[in-house]
Amino acid sequence: MSRWRRLSPTAARLFLRCLHLRPCSAWGGRGGRMTGRLKELWSYGRLLLKSLCFNALCNFDVFLDSIFEPVYWLVDHLTRWFGVVFVCLVILLTSSVLVIVYYFVLPLIISTYPAHWVTWHLCYGHWNLLMIVFHYYKAIRTSPGHPLQMKTDIPSVSICKKCIFPKPARTHHCSICNRCVLKMDHHCPWLNNCVGHLNHRYFFSFCLFMTMGCIYCSVSCWDMFVGAYNAVESYYQTPEPLFTFTEKLFHKCMIYLWVLTSSVAVALTGLTLWHAALITRGETSVERHINRKEARRLRDSGKVFRNPYNYGKVENWRIFFGVKKRSHWLTHVLLPSDHAPFGEGLTWDRSVYRRDPTAI
Ligand SMILES: [Zn+2]
Ligand SMILES: [Zn+2]
Repeated sequence: MSRWRRLSPTAARLFLRCLHLRPCSAWGGRGGRMTGRLKELWSYGRLLLKSLCFNALCNFDVFLDSIFEPVYWLVDHLTRWFGVVFVCLVILLTSSVLVIVYYFVLPLIISTYPAHWVTWHLCYGHWNLLMIVFHYYKAIRTSPGHPLQMKTDIPSVSICKKCIFPKPARTHHCSICNRCVLKMDHHCPWLNNCVGHLNHRYFFSFCLFMTMGCIYCSVSCWDMFVGAYNAVESYYQTPEPLFTFTEKLFHKCMIYLWVLTSSVAVALTGLTLWHAALITRGETSVERHINRKEARRLRDSGKVFRNPYNYGKVENWRIFFGVKKRSHWLTHVLLPSDHAPFGEGLTWDRSVYRRDPTAI
C-alpha cells in the first residue's frame, strides 16, 4: 500500500494503463494525436525506469547513509586500528606518572612529611593505583557480552540486519567490533573494546578511580609544581647555572606530572559525571539518545515517556554494581572484585535483580 501512496496520482494512473495496453488505434490520426501518443509512450518509458529502481523503504536518511558508507567504513577501521595505539598511550602515560612519583615524589614525601601524612599517602596512593590497574585490565580483557555467545533461547525484540540474528532488548550492533553487544553503552577506543553488559562496571570504576587518582596527584603535587615552575622561570633570568641536572630533571618532571594529571582530571571528571547521571537514570549512552527522541515524540502527542529500565536511583546503582547485601558496597565497589553482573543481559525482568531476602 505504501508503494502506491508514494507514487504521484498521474504516475499511478499511467502505471495502471500500462497493465491494460489498448490496441493502438491513434497512430494513423493527425499530428497532434501522434504527439500526444508519443508523450504517453515517453511517460510509460519513464515510469518503467522508475519502477525498476523504486524502493518503498528509501528515504533521505538511507540516501545519505549510502553516500557516506565509505566514510563510515574508513572511520570504523581507523578507530579499530587506533584502539591499540590509544591503549598503549594510556599504559605509557600512566607508567610515566608512576615512574616520576616513585623516583621523585615519594622519597621527598617520606623524608619531609610527618608520619601520619606519609602513612596516608602510602595507603591511599597504593589503593587508588590498585583500583585503576585492576579495573582497566578487566575492562579491556572482559568481553562486553554478545547474544551469539548465549546457548539458551534468545528472547529477541528485533533482528540485527548486519548479524542476521535475534537481537534482545537493550542490545545494539557495534559497527567497529562488527557484532551485536548486550546492553551496549558505547565503543571505547581507550579500551579498544565495547562497553556492554559484562564490562560496564569495570569501565565506570576505571573512569571513577582514574579521576580520583588524577585529582589526588594534582592536589598533592601543587606545592612542588609551583616550586618547580618558579625554578624553571629562573633558568632564563640568571646566566649562571643554579641547578644541577637532577634538580632540573625534577623540575621538568613535576611540571609534566601536574599538567598531565590536572588536564586528565578535568576531562575525566566530565565523562565520569555524565556516566554517573546515566546510571542514576537507568540508561546507557545509546538509550539516552533513543529515549530523548521517544520522549519528544510522545510529548507531542500529549503522553509521558517512562524508561522501563529505571528502577529508582539507589536501586539502579545497586543493580549496576551487582550489590546483593550491604557488605557488598565495600567488597564489590571499594575493593577489586570480578563478580558477574545480575542476569545474562538477555532479559530485563525485574525479578532478576530482586534483593536476596536472607542477606544482611
Ligand atoms: Zn549485529
Ligand atoms: Zn565495539
